[in-house]
Amino acid sequence: MQRDFLMSQLKKNPNKQWDIVVIGGGATGLGIAVDAASRGYKTVLLEQSDFAKGTSSRSTKLVHGGVRYLAQGDVSLVLEALHERGLLRRNAPHLVKNQAFIIPSYDWWEGPFYNIGMKVYDMMAGRLGLGPSEKISREETLKAIPNLDENHLNGGVIYYDGQFDDSRLAINLAQTAVEHEAVVLNYMKVTNLLKDKNELVCGVEAHDEESGENHTIHSRVVINATGVFVDNILSMDDSNAPALVRPSQGIHFVLDKSFLQGDSAIMIPKTSDGRVLFAVPWHDKVVVGTTDTPLEPDYITLEPRALEEEIDFVLNTAAQYLKKDPQKKDVLSVFAGLRPLAAQQDSESQSTKEISRSHRLMVSLSGLITITGGKWTTYRKMAEDTVNKAWMVGGLSKRKCVTEHMPIHGYVKNTHFDSPGYFYGSDRSSINAMIQEEPSLGKRLHPNYEYTRVQVVWAVRYEMARTIEDFLSRRIRMLLLDARASMAMAQDVADIMARELKRDNTWIKDQVKDYQTLAQGYILS
Ligand SMILES: Cc1cc2nc3c(=O)[nH]c(=O)nc-3n(C[C@H](O)[C@H](O)[C@H](O)COP(=O)(O)OP(=O)(O)OC[C@H]3O[C@@H](n4cnc5c(N)ncnc54)[C@H](O)[C@@H]3O)c2cc1C
Repeated sequence: MQRDFLMSQLKKNPNKQWDIVVIGGGATGLGIAVDAASRGYKTVLLEQSDFAKGTSSRSTKLVHGGVRYLAQGDVSLVLEALHERGLLRRNAPHLVKNQAFIIPSYDWWEGPFYNIGMKVYDMMAGRLGLGPSEKISREETLKAIPNLDENHLNGGVIYYDGQFDDSRLAINLAQTAVEHEAVVLNYMKVTNLLKDKNELVCGVEAHDEESGENHTIHSRVVINATGVFVDNILSMDDSNAPALVRPSQGIHFVLDKSFLQGDSAIMIPKTSDGRVLFAVPWHDKVVVGTTDTPLEPDYITLEPRALEEEIDFVLNTAAQYLKKDPQKKDVLSVFAGLRPLAAQQDSESQSTKEISRSHRLMVSLSGLITITGGKWTTYRKMAEDTVNKAWMVGGLSKRKCVTEHMPIHGYVKNTHFDSPGYFYGSDRSSINAMIQEEPSLGKRLHPNYEYTRVQVVWAVRYEMARTIEDFLSRRIRMLLLDARASMAMAQDVADIMARELKRDNTWIKDQVKDYQTLAQGYILS
């Protein structure tokens, strides 16, 4: 997956008519590119920034059916998500882990109540279940989570769900799409839609954010998979198009592992605002979140920031359940993401936590296809539905979806999720071979972390990292795991990347400066 090579594919025949152009390189767009290319459609995907720069790198990192949606009675969504959870664990076993969750019970009725709920959840997963849930004693609960607040604790319920690394999966999906001959490009912003004499959409205009060049790309179908930005593309199609998305923000903290020892996660089923809150082990740290804060559409940005009240809410809720109350100074990183919820037309008063997480597929009069809503967990099914619509709309030959049992790039069985670099899956041996050849690449980027220089080189050569943020935030997850440590790595990373990308000292200086500014936004002072 090399940007220059992929760009040359686009440029070599500017009049070529592609079958499908996908706008947006998050979970939704990348899933569609994999589905379309693996069916044999000539596919291009354009992402304005880096892959997964938007919501898709800012999730709770769960591959789950959604216990909360079960409580809301959204049975079909839970059934679909549980099925997709099972498939994703099979198709990307190097990234999706079977994670034990414990619901602690402090009132006598909570244990039996949640036990019944989780049995229904297990039953719905059927053969793709990850393990049976059960009610556990107070002693067993504390053994699994030694840091849980013991006051009035009765016991708990243990259940199993999936846990993953969202932006790593996004990169692997991009690689999978390229292996099926798709052209996927980051830093290519769609600036306009092309229309034929019948006012039907027949391609896009795109701006290469690196070279400054503009490109015209002809296609039989154009798919708008831009998450919270779908309304921008819809207004390129029709300046009077009604808004489709109701954005809602969710934030997470990352804390040191000492706050949640053991391997189990905590699921708090009902917080004071009626949501669920998770504390989940992730890359030897703990991710705590999330919130559901409705926002005005003009707040939509690629770099949302946690609000003061969200920070207080997560800190206070976590403190109710943990022995050691986390303070602002303990937060290693804080990140925010925007849910691209598909608003129902009559839902002005509906709170965002009640809006269904199901996806919504829409075809405009011009033939533009828009997909919004959904979850990371269901990205494959969303893609299947979208491409089924695309061949009909574009008059393409009908071809069956083949992703249900298709391994994703990196696929390798029996992953040891504790070992460094596990997330490279089948690529790991090639990375180790590079260190054998050039031992200096095995040098660490930070004394406290096991990430090494070879990973920077690998990310540039094979994962299309173009900036130090691409590397530190989405190829490895340092920005989210420990923002201060990531700032300390920035200079080294910039030097290595500049050598690989043939950039000069000004580039290095600008990159480091921009990164320090960005990373400050992930630190609570
Ligand atoms: C706080 C939070 C927690 C979540 N937790 C989970 C979870 O644990 N499990 C789960 O299954 N789901 C979870 N989700 C949901 C999941 O993360 C999202 O449904 C999913 O990531 C949305 O992906 P997307 O591709 O639609 O949007 P995005 O990831 O935002 O991608 C859209 C992309 O389009 C690009 N774009 C926009 N305009 C243009 C343009 N003009 N040209 C080119 N590109 C453009 C953007 O740069 C962006 O990268 C969570 C969501 C949030 C907010």
